[in-house]
Amino acid sequence: DTGLEKTKDNFFSKISKAIAGKSTVDDDVLDELEEILVTSDVGVSTTLKIIERIQARVAKDKYVSTSELNSLLRDEIQQLLAENNSNDFHNFEYGNHKPYVIMVVGVNGVGKTTTIGKLAHQLKMAGNKVVLGAADTFRAAAVDQILLWGERVGVRVVAQAMGSDPASVAFDTLQSAVANGEDVAIIDTAGRLHNKVGLMNELTKIKNVMQKVIPGAPHEILLVLDASTGQNAIEQCKQFTEATAVNALALTKLDGTAKGGVVIGISDQFKIPVKYIGVGEGMNDLQLFDRKGFVDSLFK
Ligand code: GDP
Repeated sequence: DTGLEKTKDNFFSKISKAIAGKSTVDDDVLDELEEILVTSDVGVSTTLKIIERIQARVAKDKYVSTSELNSLLRDEIQQLLAENNSNDFHNFEYGNHKPYVIMVVGVNGVGKTTTIGKLAHQLKMAGNKVVLGAADTFRAAAVDQILLWGERVGVRVVAQAMGSDPASVAFDTLQSAVANGEDVAIIDTAGRLHNKVGLMNELTKIKNVMQKVIPGAPHEILLVLDASTGQNAIEQCKQFTEATAVNALALTKLDGTAKGGVVIGISDQFKIPVKYIGVGEGMNDLQLFDRKGFVDSLFK
């Protein structure tokens, strides 16, 4: 169980239908393939890129049997992901920085808190001392949820009263992380997409405060996106990357969607590595994104 079964089934049943009764890849098959990719939320521009590449292969080899289509498509997707995810992530350990600071951003409901909880669990299992900072102080529920995850996975949480200054929570978290010799600090932030300038100012303020404690922090600005929301996820990615220097993505709820193609589209459009994928609600349902494994699980 890879958590990607729905996307896989969606891909395959549609591709099988598109090639039923046909022996070669022709324009009709390519048209249908284009539609399949677009409806799997790969996105139009990325889909066209893939189709053009397959067209070029077909033109070169003259005759491509429909039975080869899956492996052709697999190669192209693999290639596309390789171009944008140069560094694969193989473990939940972070070398040089102590503490390694992760600032987590994203709108409410995408699975931000759950991702933080799962990540804390994975990092702890990998032998790290982890602390969480509940800097989404605008929603009481957000602070409670982080506290709950902290209890569940057994990591310390720094929280202040609701409505307090998020930058002050971030400051406290990092200061105590240094004092306690913790390896990783994960800071939640408010998921309000009010307006771009507001968002930018808020995140900049938190970052500046972090740098007062640890120059170079945050080392990772992780944007969490709900893969099942397709084009909304792409729009959020656009907004957040314009507001702050996002350098890693987490795509959640891939287990609940047949549209996992969004991973391919987002990676191609934004050139930011997909670092984590969420494939369920439990604490073990977070995987480091491995492009080969991802493509394999779609085409197995
Ligand atoms: P936040 O508002 O962004 O902090 O979102 P939450 O972390 O509270 O998550 C919202 C809902 O999505 C919760 O019911 C989570 O259990 C659920 N959720 C989060 N990640 C995943 C995932 O990878 N798969 C599934 N199926 N559900 C998820």
